[in-house]
Amino acid sequence: MHRKTILVTGASRGIGRSIAVKFASEGYHVFLNCHTSVAELTAVKDYIENNYHTPCSIAAGDAGNAADVARMFADIHQTCGHLDVLVNNAGISYIGLLMDMSDEDWRQVIDTNLSSVFYCCRAAIPPMISRKSGRIINISSMWGTSGASCEAAYSASKSGVNGLTRALAKELAPSNIQVNAIACGVIDTEMNRQLSAEERKELEDAIPAGRYGTPDEIARIVWDTANAPEYMTGQIIGVDGGYL
Ligand code: NAD
Repeated sequence: MHRKTILVTGASRGIGRSIAVKFASEGYHVFLNCHTSVAELTAVKDYIENNYHTPCSIAAGDAGNAADVARMFADIHQTCGHLDVLVNNAGISYIGLLMDMSDEDWRQVIDTNLSSVFYCCRAAIPPMISRKSGRIINISSMWGTSGASCEAAYSASKSGVNGLTRALAKELAPSNIQVNAIACGVIDTEMNRQLSAEERKELEDAIPAGRYGTPDEIARIVWDTANAPEYMTGQIIGVDGGYL
């Protein structure tokens, strides 16, 4: 029987790690990507192989760099021919006033959060079209829907991900490839560790569920989306404890 395959970008920790572990626990051959934290990524690979005895490969590289992504996909397609699922998860935040943001900071947020989705989709799609099968799931944010003060570039990048998701879903629906996005609320990962205890409490009080979400909760919705009826495509699925 064909073993299903998935690439998770930004899988060394946080939400990406949870998604990778969830799909490995279901028997997938998982390709793990991150850019700089290769030691952490190797630890995730060891964890998966020791606990789930399923194949796991490292596809290191900058997801926001076209040449790196082309090289990663050449390796992936040589190993497995095609991906069943692509999860575009790699992302960075930038907190600060827009007027203080440098060109380089702007470029880095847009490259990492949005251009990465373009590069990975472009490379993953051709074999999916040949097989008339595939799922693309983009990890977005509720700030892409509503906008966050002092996170203008981040909000713009995630709005871009939402627009790309909706448009690509239409482009690929005739080929039976589903494209959806998960608009996460505040999730308990390193990304939010710079907040003080006071800021964290304030944020928790503003969330109707009264707490941060967990990376495992996002992994569960990604799994459900990968297994949802094929008629569900082009959706931005909010998982935010009722925040928006
Ligand atoms: P995290 O900082 O814990 O993990 C980010 C991962 O992306 C790491 O593995 C990191 O190595 C990787 N990464 C960063 N730049 C990369 C690059 N150029 N190429 C490849 N990998 C790269 O963050 P997280 O909270 O797990 O975030 C994962 C995704 O979820 C991001 O897209 C983020 O925007 C989104 N998100 C997070 C939250 C939250 O509250 N944590 C909320 C909404 C959306």
